[in-house]
Amino acid sequence: MANDPVLIAGAGPIGYTTALLLARRGIPFVLFEAGDKIFDDPRAGTIHPPTLDLFEESGVTSAMMEQGFIVNNYHYRDRRAGLIADFNLNVLGDQTKFPFRLMLEQHRICYILRDKLKAMGQHNVHMRHRVTKVEQDADGVTATVQSDEGERAVRGSWMIGCDGGRSQVRKSMNVNFDGFTYPERFLVLSTRYDFAQHDYAITNYIADPEEWCALFKVPGNDGKGMWRVVFPAPPDASQEELFDESSVQARIQGFNRKEGAYEMHHRNLYDVHQRVASRYHDSRLMVAGDAAHINNPLGGMGMNFGLHDAFNVVDKLSKIILEDASHDLLDLYDRQRRTVAQEYLQRQTIENKRNIEQKDPVERENFYNELRGIAANRDKLHAYLLRVAMIEGFRRAQSIT
Ligand SMILES: Cc1cc2nc3c(=O)[nH]c(=O)nc-3n(C[C@H](O)[C@H](O)[C@H](O)COP(=O)(O)OP(=O)(O)OC[C@H]3O[C@@H](n4cnc5c(N)ncnc54)[C@H](O)[C@@H]3O)c2cc1C
Repeated sequence: MANDPVLIAGAGPIGYTTALLLARRGIPFVLFEAGDKIFDDPRAGTIHPPTLDLFEESGVTSAMMEQGFIVNNYHYRDRRAGLIADFNLNVLGDQTKFPFRLMLEQHRICYILRDKLKAMGQHNVHMRHRVTKVEQDADGVTATVQSDEGERAVRGSWMIGCDGGRSQVRKSMNVNFDGFTYPERFLVLSTRYDFAQHDYAITNYIADPEEWCALFKVPGNDGKGMWRVVFPAPPDASQEELFDESSVQARIQGFNRKEGAYEMHHRNLYDVHQRVASRYHDSRLMVAGDAAHINNPLGGMGMNFGLHDAFNVVDKLSKIILEDASHDLLDLYDRQRRTVAQEYLQRQTIENKRNIEQKDPVERENFYNELRGIAANRDKLHAYLLRVAMIEGFRRAQSIT
């Protein structure tokens, strides 16, 4: 086994998962995180069945289940006409032990992973350490890391970039990150107001030609529930305008009128991109998660997909390190995960956005009729949910040789 540790950049959900999976195989690693804490801004909150299946063995799934909300049914709605289709995920019970979505914020997943590493005595995580440069040679990698103590060079055997959309590791691999950025951004508002009293499910996609909306309930810091409402934000509006209390109240009251003001807990604005790296590995450097692919959050897929990358790449790298397997295995990682990033992740999320904002009334009605037909027919529902619950894409990746 190589003496130098595997270096990981980025302590988001993908970096922490990569670290835990290496630790569980007894492979030394060091993880560098630029920030001073695990970021807790409202991003991923939806965990899909294959992710729960993958994490089961490590005990992460049971820890997540203790804290999260189970979503058996989710709604597709029209903002004016109401419920279009109610999708029951339990039909996937013949395919997975976890035939539902679990709602749990991504920073709480990171806390679980961090605590597991600590319990193993393997929390080799350096916060406030930014990777600024990465070089490689035939025997290993050298990362330049900037911290409060200054800059130093760290030697590793391999390096996995889990450092998000602007990945320094990816830039060091000299690959392209082609795709596009949507002109509008996504505005995320959080409130404790209980939308369930209006018959909303825990997860709702609400189509509208002018202002679509997505509505979810996540546990929140006290576990009692926090509702997130996601709207498209016009490209020309400034953050100041969008976050202004009267504009926030007008927007959310326009969606669901109620007596008195909504008490708001968060307001966040995100740029939205669709991009995939042209390669996921270059000799001793690899990327996983948002460093490899980014997409709009409709469908709740980006983090899940990145977690599947982490399981795949660690599986292959550990065979190379522990069993002296051929380095070509990393080409297989690239082929498997990059193919499905294009075929499933990009295709599905682009489609989700197109459908929820559909302006053509005929197209919209056709789509609604298709959804009604799927929800009413068990076989169609089963096939549809296999795709949107990310099982089909996961299996497709595994089948690539
Ligand atoms: C509004 C919204 C909702 C979403 N909802 C979902 C959902 O429900 N389900 C889902 O699957 N996905 C969802 N996503 C996507 C999900 O948030 C991302 O896919 C996920 O954060 C990717 O994890 P990551 O670990 O790859 O990257 P990140 O979470 O971005 O973490 C990267 C880490 O690397 C660190 N870093 C960056 N550069 C360096 C460097 N040079 N050196 C060291 N450290 C560095 C950063 O500080 C950060 O901590 C959503 C996204 C948004 C914006």
